[in-house]
Amino acid sequence: MALYKFYQVGDDGSISRTRRNCPRCGNGTFLAEHSNRLSCGKCGYTEFRKKDTAE
Ligand SMILES: [Zn+2]
Repeated sequence: MALYKFYQVGDDGSISRTRRNCPRCGNGTFLAEHSNRLSCGKCGYTEFRKKDTAE
């Protein structure tokens, strides 16, 4: 059940829109989510999140 909770499958069948692909590794390699940043475990790419993201 936990897996279903973790992965949000969209209407079009795509896995959670919150997960982003690594710009270096390309599609298929997702950035790991941390509290304030995203990082790629493959190449080490790190992207910092802005705290005040406007919705
Ligand atoms: Zn990468």
